[in-house]
Amino acid sequence: MSSIVFNWEEKDLEQVSLTEGLSLEKLKRGLKAGRVVIPRNAKGDIALKAIGEGMSTKVNVNVGTSKDFVNSGEEVEKAKIAVKYGADTIMDLSTGGDLDETRRAILKEVNVPVGTVPIYQAALEKTDERAVVDMNADDMFNAVRKHAKDGIDFVTIHAGVNQNSLERLRRSERILDVVSRGGAFLIAWMIHNEQENPFYSEYDYLLEIAKEYDLTLSLGDGMRPGCISDASDRAKYMETIVLGELVEQARKEGVQAMVEGPGHVPLDEIEASVKTIKHITDFAPLYLLGPLVTDVAPGYDHFVSAIGGAIAGMYGADFLCMVSPSEHLALPSVDEIKEGTIVTKIAAHAADLVKEGQRERARLMDDEMAHARKNLDWKRQLEIAINPEEARRIRNSRPSESDACSICGDLCAIKMVKAFLKRKS
Ligand code: SF4
Repeated sequence: MSSIVFNWEEKDLEQVSLTEGLSLEKLKRGLKAGRVVIPRNAKGDIALKAIGEGMSTKVNVNVGTSKDFVNSGEEVEKAKIAVKYGADTIMDLSTGGDLDETRRAILKEVNVPVGTVPIYQAALEKTDERAVVDMNADDMFNAVRKHAKDGIDFVTIHAGVNQNSLERLRRSERILDVVSRGGAFLIAWMIHNEQENPFYSEYDYLLEIAKEYDLTLSLGDGMRPGCISDASDRAKYMETIVLGELVEQARKEGVQAMVEGPGHVPLDEIEASVKTIKHITDFAPLYLLGPLVTDVAPGYDHFVSAIGGAIAGMYGADFLCMVSPSEHLALPSVDEIKEGTIVTKIAAHAADLVKEGQRERARLMDDEMAHARKNLDWKRQLEIAINPEEARRIRNSRPSESDACSICGDLCAIKMVKAFLKRKS
């Protein structure tokens, strides 16, 4: 097994081991093996987030402008509210307006790791309509370097979209072909230019850049299925095999790498999907975009994704990407980002309750809530709720005359049985 040579300061690692509630030795072992990553640019002074085996399940929140809605200030607000409600990392996926301005504004305002997808900028900086196919390999690598120089901590690179996985896509009978934006850019580019994906053919160069800036690679899921029928096919697994090889190369060069995964996956395929990706990539940290467990709930896709995310987390996914209620419909608002973040945090916590290395710590939180419920200690219940404001709003909206809540009032089951049990003892 290859080994990451990392240059973390002891005090940083001590802080992370404390936050994660595990031993320093275990954390170091995970980092050396590449099964845990801590994304942080060489110039970064941010909260350290350990992602991977044995760590608590982390949550990423995507923000970013589109061509239709260009408002850097609003994207910064989204990033800030996401962090307030527990996002561990932010990704700026901007594709509209001044991309540099938005990225730098987000970097300035949040103190958690920030990620980007540099190929968006490489493609969109060209002014002509054929920008996606007219960019060249230098444009792609220059965009990565530019983001790294700005202080970006991790980048999604769709290096697994190569001629081999593309051939599997061509032979597939997918309904939705490709739904990854970065993957689509590269596939269009490869077909038009009849060339291999530069991020794959010149991966060594990418690793050099990553090394120079301590940039963590998030090896993108360009072939992720975009609907239930397309899940778990050969195109996806071909890409995963390539990603496994790329993880190995990254580790040999001392570059931190994680792997992105699907997508839309039915409930009964999640376990196999997570375990297969984990094994093929030698247990690289797994970053899931979903999985969404049905296609028919636009407006509620944050729940659809949280159901899949909790189950995937139980089977070993390490990092969940927030899906907002506006997924598949429109660019999310600030409120929708808040809602999506909270729901994804719930999924991550539910996974931690059964995750090796985290379950005991996670259960302390649930036990505290259970005791507060037993004591009808409303103050404490509201304090430790994942979203105290919403819990308080509901509690105050229909108060009870009793010291219980207005569902049962004086007939409160907890109160009644507690009183009778006390009388018996
Ligand atoms: S009143 Fe009913 S719902 Fe409310 S705390 Fe008591 S048992 Fe629970």
